Amino acid sequence: MEEDFIVSNNSTIDIGKIWEAALQKIANEVTAISFDVWIKTIVPSEIKGNTLVLATPSLSSKKVLNNNYKTIITSCLNQVHSAITSVEFVIEDASIKEEEEKEEAPSEDELVRSTFNPKYTFDNFVVGSSNQFVAAAAKAVSQNPGEKYNPLFIYGGVGLGKTHLLHAIGNSINETKPELNVVYVTCERFTNDLIESIRDSKKTSTSSFRAKYRKADVLIIDDIQFIANKQSVQEEFFNTFNELNENHKQIVISSDRPPKEINPLEERIRSRLEWGLLADIGIPDIETKIAILQKKSQIEHYNVSKDVIEYIAGAQSTNIRELEGMLARAVFYSGLLGESIVSIETAREALKDIAMRNDAELDASVILDSVCKFYNIKKEELLARKRTKEVALARQVAMYLITDLLSIPLAAVGDIFGKDHATVIYAKSKVQEDMHKNKKFATEVNDIRAMIKGK
Ligand code: ADP
Ligand code: MG
Repeated sequence: MEEDFIVSNNSTIDIGKIWEAALQKIANEVTAISFDVWIKTIVPSEIKGNTLVLATPSLSSKKVLNNNYKTIITSCLNQVHSAITSVEFVIEDASIKEEEEKEEAPSEDELVRSTFNPKYTFDNFVVGSSNQFVAAAAKAVSQNPGEKYNPLFIYGGVGLGKTHLLHAIGNSINETKPELNVVYVTCERFTNDLIESIRDSKKTSTSSFRAKYRKADVLIIDDIQFIANKQSVQEEFFNTFNELNENHKQIVISSDRPPKEINPLEERIRSRLEWGLLADIGIPDIETKIAILQKKSQIEHYNVSKDVIEYIAGAQSTNIRELEGMLARAVFYSGLLGESIVSIETAREALKDIAMRNDAELDASVILDSVCKFYNIKKEELLARKRTKEVALARQVAMYLITDLLSIPLAAVGDIFGKDHATVIYAKSKVQEDMHKNKKFATEVNDIRAMIKGK
C-alpha cells in the first residue's frame, strides 16, 4: 500500500501545496529563464515513500532536470517538508515517452532542437495597445519564417513578455512546420557554449558548436544586450548571422534596449540587427494588466475574483512577472487559509509587505539612476560587465539597495545586471558588512537611499 503523506499535525497535505512552497524557494536558486523553461513546467505527480515523483513535459526537459536541477529541487523540497528526501522525474505524456525514449542518445551530428515552454503560446499572450504591433510581427514571422522581417528584433523592459513571445514563435513553428529546426538560446548560453567550445581543444567541439547554430532554420536569441563588450562572441554571432541570412533562415532576437543603445557593439553587427524589423514592446495599461492576470488565473486554474485581480493590477509595477508573482502569492496564502476563492482581505494581507506602490514611483530604474548620479557614472557602465573598481562598488551598492528597497526575487535583481542570484547575495552581504565596518561608507549608502526616497 502506498504511504499516506502525513504532516506533523496528522492531516494529509496535498503535494500541490508542498510543490507551490518549494517553487518559491527554487525561484531564488535558479535564473528566471531556467525557472520559466524547466521548473514551471513540472507537475508534481505522486509520493512514493520518501520520493516525490515529478512529471515533466518531454524527454529533453527530463534530461536537463536530472543533469542540472535535481539537487536544488530536492533540497528545496526537503526544506519545505523533511519527509521528502529524493525526487524522480517522469515524462508526463506516455505517448511522448515511448516515442522519445527510442530516440535517446542523439548522434553527434544530429540537429539540436530546442524545447519551448508549452504555456508560452500566442493563445496565452494577451494583446493590448502596448504590444499589438510586436505580437503581430511575431505571428507573421512564425507563419512565414525567413520571408519577411528578418531579423525580427524585439525590445522592451524587463517582464514585459519578450521571452514569452520568443517561445510562442518556437511553439508555433514546431507545431505547424515540424520539419524546421528551431534553435532557441539565451545570449548567455550562446556565450558559454562558445567559451566551452574554445576551451575544449578538440576540433569537434568548435564544429559541433557551429553545427548547432548554423544548421538552424530559425535561430532565436534571447537577451542579446549581453553581447556588448564581448568581442569573440560578437565575431561568432556575426558569422552565424551572415551564414543564416545568406540561406534565408529566420533570425529572431530580443533585447532590453534597441540596437543603438547596446554599447559597445561593433558597427557591422548593429547595422545587421537593424536590417529587419525593430518592434518595441511597451508598458501595459491597466486594462491589459487586468486581462493578463485573468488569463493567468485561467491557465493556472486559480479561483480569484475580479476585485482581487483589479487590486493587483493596480500596483505600481508594470513588470508582468512581478504581478504574476503577487497573484501566485495571494493564491498561495488563500490556499493555506482554506479559502475556496481568494478574498480581497487575504490578498491585501498576503501582499502587505510588497508595497502596493500607487503613489511613490519607486522601481529599479529610479535606484539605478540615483546610484549613477551619486558615483557620477553612466547607467550603461553600471549595467555592463566592466570591472573597474568604482563601477564594481557602485554596482554592489545598486544591488544591495534594490534588494533592500524593492520586493523582487534575487534572481530578478541578478537579471537586471546580467548576473546570477549568487552574485546578488554576495553583493548584498558585502555592502552590509562594509557599512558595518566603515562609517563613511555607511553614510554614503544612506545618502543614496535618502536621494531615492526623496524622488
Ligand atoms: P521578458 O522576457 O520581457 O522579461 P517574459 O516574457 O519573461 O518577460 O514575461 C514575464 C511573465 O509575464 C511571463 O510569465 C509571461 O507569460 C507574462 N506575460 C508578459 N506579457 C504577457 C501578455 N501580454 N500576455 C500574457 N502573459 C504575459
Ligand atoms: Mg526574458
